Amino acid sequence: MRLYDAHNHLQDDRLMPRLDEIVLECRKAGIVRMVVNGSCEQDWPKVAELARRFPEVLPSFGYHPWYVQEQTPDWQRELTRWLDELPSAVGEVGLDKWVLESQGRGAGQLGLIPTDPASLPEQEEVFVWQLRLAAERNLPLSIHCLQAWGPLLEILRREPRPQCGFLLHSYGGSPELVAPLTKLGAYFSLPGYFAHERKHRQRASFRVVPPERLLIETDAPDQNLPEARNVHRLTDAASGSPINHPANLAAVYAFAGEMLDEPLARLSERVEENFRRLFIERVAIT
Ligand SMILES: [Zn+2]
Repeated sequence: MRLYDAHNHLQDDRLMPRLDEIVLECRKAGIVRMVVNGSCEQDWPKVAELARRFPEVLPSFGYHPWYVQEQTPDWQRELTRWLDELPSAVGEVGLDKWVLESQGRGAGQLGLIPTDPASLPEQEEVFVWQLRLAAERNLPLSIHCLQAWGPLLEILRREPRPQCGFLLHSYGGSPELVAPLTKLGAYFSLPGYFAHERKHRQRASFRVVPPERLLIETDAPDQNLPEARNVHRLTDAASGSPINHPANLAAVYAFAGEMLDEPLARLSERVEENFRRLFIERVAIT
């Protein structure tokens, strides 16, 4: 089986110390392509370097809403330059109201979550600029959206969108939103994290995703699978915390097959077609 990871962060510092070994394990697991998402300016050269070294890496460049506060005055020129050089995908970008609301609950102290994230209007401005760029160049866009579905829908309806469509990575919206988002050009990617027992609402949404719009992701090194499904165990050397290995993609496919009651061979063919249509051929969906 040929496996496709629609969303990971191979450039993450937590994976870098064991990079060669990790890529080898991904190959052994059958992974042929992976979209590696740069989320801020410091990430972009690292993502480009990975794309030069490893043919399976499909580089993606964008500003994640969590890091908007770190922008330099040059960020738009830098982003445009990377996309001129490697015109493959824009992401990770998006809107996040959860991060704003979780500040009072001390989420910033967890370490990776920013302590002073940009306001929603600031996030929207940065997101819209990147959406327009992706639309102009017909590049697939990988969107992160947490608790901001109203504003996201409003922007997607109002603004130009890439003809090839866009990806809602780790889609956590309601089942009711799947149809209107599909109409706007959305693909939906399923992470292994949704295999956790309590994530039944998210699984319900994936059961109504149209077959030709489903993708699968690890979001490695984040979004750990439940213990019983975690085949490739990995620990962050700095913190000692468990992290998600990108080769766990095979376990996410297995979870998807069980959840959708679909034989793995058929599921993987379908995901391959969907991945190629969005990220490689960039076929217009309307
Ligand atoms: Zn991500």
